[in-house]
Amino acid sequence: MLQFFGRGSAFADSHNCAFFRCRDELVLLDCPMDAFQKLKHADLTSGVSRIRVLLTHTHGDHAGGIPMLIHYAFFILHIPVTVQAPSPAVREDLRLILDHLEGCDPRGYTLQDPECADPTFTAVPIPTQHVPALEGRCFGYYLSVDGQECVYTGDSCTLEPFLPYLHAGVTLYTETCWHRSAVHMHIGAFLPVLTALTEQGVQVYLMHLDDEEKIASAICGTKLCLAPLYTTRRDNMTDRNDSVLSEILTLTDKLYKQMCSGEGNDHSRLFADLTELGKVLTGADRASFWKWDKQKKELWTLSAIGTERIVIPETTGLVGKALREKRIIVTNDPYSDPDFNPAVDKKTGYVTKSVMVLPVADVNGAFIGAYQMINKPGGFDEAEDTRRLSLAALICGIALESDTFLEESQHDKLTHLKNRMGFYADYLRRYGKMLAEGKQVSMFLCDIDHFKRVNDTYGHNAGDDALVFVSGILADSCRQGDCAYRWGGEEFIMLMPDTPIEQAAKIADSIRVRIMNSVCHADGNDIQLTISFGCWEMDGSIQAEANVKRADNRLYVAKETGRNKVIWND
Ligand code: GH3
Ligand code: MG
Ligand code: MG
Repeated sequence: MLQFFGRGSAFADSHNCAFFRCRDELVLLDCPMDAFQKLKHADLTSGVSRIRVLLTHTHGDHAGGIPMLIHYAFFILHIPVTVQAPSPAVREDLRLILDHLEGCDPRGYTLQDPECADPTFTAVPIPTQHVPALEGRCFGYYLSVDGQECVYTGDSCTLEPFLPYLHAGVTLYTETCWHRSAVHMHIGAFLPVLTALTEQGVQVYLMHLDDEEKIASAICGTKLCLAPLYTTRRDNMTDRNDSVLSEILTLTDKLYKQMCSGEGNDHSRLFADLTELGKVLTGADRASFWKWDKQKKELWTLSAIGTERIVIPETTGLVGKALREKRIIVTNDPYSDPDFNPAVDKKTGYVTKSVMVLPVADVNGAFIGAYQMINKPGGFDEAEDTRRLSLAALICGIALESDTFLEESQHDKLTHLKNRMGFYADYLRRYGKMLAEGKQVSMFLCDIDHFKRVNDTYGHNAGDDALVFVSGILADSCRQGDCAYRWGGEEFIMLMPDTPIEQAAKIADSIRVRIMNSVCHADGNDIQLTISFGCWEMDGSIQAEANVKRADNRLYVAKETGRNKVIWND
């Protein structure tokens, strides 16, 4: 029934202060300064026409906020305050204080004996024992509100006076302390009686916690609970913001370390972390980062969290729409958007309920990809979520541009095969590691026969066309995991993981035969080409160049012994 702004004691960080609402009244049990501060931010006063304080005694950590409350309620809230104190002596003390406080307008409050309480709820004062100086001036309460009964002890060194009120169905809010003193109820001494009460059906909540952590561990395994704390909306926001901020800082720390690690050639981890960052920033369930491959007219995920890697035509889906229309797309009802592609949902059983797509631009403002968030509880808010994602989207743009440059620098413009830089990067990233793990990787180096004559006879453009033609056949011959590279001029390499040399030689020979048997249309000429191969099973104990040199030795033999052939042993 009661909620607590705080459940600590005078020496803890927050003071003990509880409240409940009865009809149009907000009732506080004591009012330390903490209670007033929290009440001010809690937005509990809408519809309230009176604030009532039931006082237990005059210690500042119980009554210290009363003047401020009266002051604030009178001038700001325009709500009268009634303070009820069971003892005439306590009321006198309080009146003395309030009378002498400048600005505490007497029109703002009434001091009452609880006997005069409004019959909307019952508040029976229960005299109790606390510090000797307050003899006769300390009270707890028996309360009955809308049929719910509870006992609130206030500060007390005894449970005795409250026992007659405690029966099954009653809730007891009792003070307890960890540090031994004659004026409070020590948890160790009172644990048996309190647990016995829970066995009898009394719900027991503990308050006045001078050491919350220790008391919490002392009641572990019992039915005793700590008094329920009320969290204001502001507290909730702060808690969430703190945890989100901490997650963001962890991710940015990871990003920073990654970018400084010197392993900058591989952007995949960077995109994975940036995608995770987007998820945290917006609170979305899934996130993905899409790269726009304008040459292939495709969109593909560099990093998708919660899904497999996906490639789609550039015109499809909401990502395609965002890039086509050069704008942010937000929908909290995707199935009614004709551009939404439900294929992934159908395949995976996932249900997309809301989508936000942010197109990502390079530093020149050209769109190069998109950041997509899926399923945010409550839906996406375009303005707010864009604000949250903007910095991450900017970093994504820079990372994507850098990734595009890297891709371009590792590809040959003429044949679109990877070039020598691409070969070294792949060797470092994939094949070298495979060799180190003892896996078999074979390769061949091949060279078009008498290519100089092609240039000399048909011209340089025809030579270029011939290079594109041969590259096409090599790329087409790659199996899953294989990769073809333009090593330079009219020389090409193919790397074939998990392939013994004999099999590599067979693949090379089939390519040789295919080229020999096809006609190359080159700048208006029909040309017949042949090509020579040197095959080599790669050796992890020597450098990449040394492996290429071994293949080149065999290619040399092929050239020397008549061309248009595959040499795969010495
Ligand atoms: P071999 O059978 O011994 O390999 O003879 P080859 O004529 O193929 O070899 P050589 O190394 O003498 O000539 C290679 C030629 O390839 C010379 C060079 O001009 C040409 N070439 C290299 N890169 C390109 C290119 O990008 N385009 C064109 N059209 N020709 C190129
Ligand atoms: Mg050559
Ligand atoms: Mg040649």
